[in-house]
Parts: sequence; structure tokens; C-alpha cells
Amino acid sequence: MIQDTFGRVHDYLRISLTDVCNFRCFYCMPEEEYDFTPSSRLMQADEIRSLAGIFVDLGVKKIRLTGGEPLVRKDAGKIILSLSELPVLLTLTTNGTRLHHFVPVLQQAGIRSVNISLDTLNAKKFVDITRRDQFMEVMDNVDLLIRNNFHVKINVVVTRGLNELEIKDFVEWTRNVPVHIRFIEFMPFNGNRWSSDQVFTWQEILDLISQHYQFDRLDDELHATAKKYQIPGHQGTFAVISTMSAPFCGTCNRMRLTADGKMKNCLFSKNEMDLLTALRKGDDIVPLVRECVGRKEAALGGQLTPQYQKLQPDFIRNRSMITIGG
Ligand code: SAM
Ligand code: SF4
Repeated sequence: MIQDTFGRVHDYLRISLTDVCNFRCFYCMPEEEYDFTPSSRLMQADEIRSLAGIFVDLGVKKIRLTGGEPLVRKDAGKIILSLSELPVLLTLTTNGTRLHHFVPVLQQAGIRSVNISLDTLNAKKFVDITRRDQFMEVMDNVDLLIRNNFHVKINVVVTRGLNELEIKDFVEWTRNVPVHIRFIEFMPFNGNRWSSDQVFTWQEILDLISQHYQFDRLDDELHATAKKYQIPGHQGTFAVISTMSAPFCGTCNRMRLTADGKMKNCLFSKNEMDLLTALRKGDDIVPLVRECVGRKEAALGGQLTPQYQKLQPDFIRNRSMITIGG
């Protein structure tokens, strides 16, 4: 069991397969020119399997693959299948563009639930956000996964002045389609030019939806980051991930492994533990994992506060989201 000094048991690992992405979402990538990590410095497929196996032996029950875009990695299928041999719930967050190549692999790996990022239902705005003209590919793949009976969650980063007026359209989508929308408050990371006035909060999201619908709060899952809701009679659900206005650190069970093999005990942690170098040297990984979790702060990596309006993003020491793995 991996436990921190606050008694929180950590049994969920998010593994970034790569910091490469075929999109350029403004909230995720640094503005300036960005050099992707050379492949020799990334965890190789067998190294990912070894490290994941160590975490599973220590009690990890769920692994999410992320990135960058995990499905641009050439050996993504091989990695997915090798991790599926572990006794864990395996899942994936993707921008959706390459899912049509992976349906049989996901099925073979027993992956039943996939998170797809999509911040707008407007093809033109999609290009503004991602800098890529691939809206239809993503929509077609959402459809493909639903037809193949996957549980599909749609991650929507809500940014004031950009897409908050589409919240109603996303919620309306849940009427006849079993999609599960997750509105995410915009978070600060290196180079993403975050400012507090761009955060459209959980409360504002609910207020806006309540102008059009009545909805019920659903029970929270253990360790849930999302507060879930459903409109009676709708096939899908919606949820809010309120990291900025109402953080949920008290029940956190998450650890992260970046694509270059550094362990982070929190999305917002300054410090990292270099597991890949240790693995390559043949060192024992277990004490390093325990030490990293032992240093976990009570909330928000010890860097952010729930009064997000007062945050000064230039003083936060972290990576860009694309290099952490969301
Ligand atoms: N490329 C994949 C994707 O887009 O789903 C996986 C990696 S992406 C970093 C993981 C998630 O992080 C996405 O849902 C994305 O919307 C979210 N994300 C990235 N930057 C964010 C930010 N600044 N605030 C909130 N969510 C963010
Ligand atoms: Fe790529 Fe996902 Fe980041 Fe967009 S959010 S740039 S798709 S990693």
C-alpha cells in the first residue's frame, strides 16, 4: 500500500506515454516554440511495463494512459496490450483523432471507458483552440466509440469568453446520446498564459445550466474529482471538475509518471522523483515511490490556494500540462 503522511492511500497512477501531440491546444502547450523530448529520454515500452508492475505490486488498482497525445506514439497499441496483462482498471485520455485505429486494441485490452477531449461543438472554434482542423474526425470517433458500447466521457475545458456559452449545447447532447460531459475549470501551467478571470467556475456552470434545465446531483464515486449531475430522462450525464474553485485534494489517490519517467505526487507538485534513471541503473524503485508520496503536500502541490483569484501564475513552479500528462 502507498500512503502519504495525511493517511491518503494512493492506488491510481496516470502514465504519460509521450509529450508529443498532433494538436496545439492553447491551455496545454507553452506559447513559445516547444521541443518535444527525444525518444531515447522517454520511457520505452518495456520500462513502462516494469514501472507499472512495481506500482501495481504496491497496490495500484487503476492506470490511466495520457500524454501529450498517447495514441500518436508508434508503440501505443503494444503498450496498451502489455499493461492490460496487469490486474488493473486500464483507461485512456485522448484527443480522439486516432481512435479509429485503436478500437480492436482497446477492446482486446478490456478498456471500456475512454475520456475524449473536446472543448467546442463548433468546427471553426475547434481550429482556434487546437490549431488543427480535425473537428469531424473527433466527432466521428466519439460516435464510433459509442456505437461500440464504450463509456465515453467528454472533457471540456471551460474558458470564460471562449466557450462558456456552449455549456448548454454540451448538456443538450446528453439528452439522446449516452455521453458523459465533464466541464473542467481552466488551470494554470507553465506557459499557458492563465489568468484568474478566465476561470469559469463550478458554481457559474451550474447557474448557467439551471437557467435551462432541472438536474439531480448523482452520488460521488470514492476519490472522485468530478461532481456528477443528470437531467431526468437524459441518457448521458454531466459533471464539473472544480480544481480551482473547490479543490478535492482531501480524497486524492493519484500519482503521475511523466513520459520521461519522473514521478509527480500531484499535478501541481514542484518536485519530481526520477524513476526512469533509477530503473536504468538497476536501483530499487519502491523506496523512491514511497519517498515521493511521503513528500506529498496536503493540497494543490503546496503551490496553489483555493483563493485562485489571488494566484500569481509566474510564481508557480511546474511543467506545462503537455509534459506532465493530464
Ligand atoms: N491529448 C490528450 C487529450 O487532449 O485528451 C491527453 C492529454 S491532455 C493534457 C489531458 C487533459 O488535460 C485534457 O482533457 C485536457 O483538456 C486537459 N487540460 C490540459 N490543459 C489544461 C488546463 N490548463 N486546464 C484544465 N485542463 C487542461
Ligand atoms: Fe494535445 Fe491534449 Fe494538450 Fe490538446 S490537451 S495539446 S490534444 S495533449
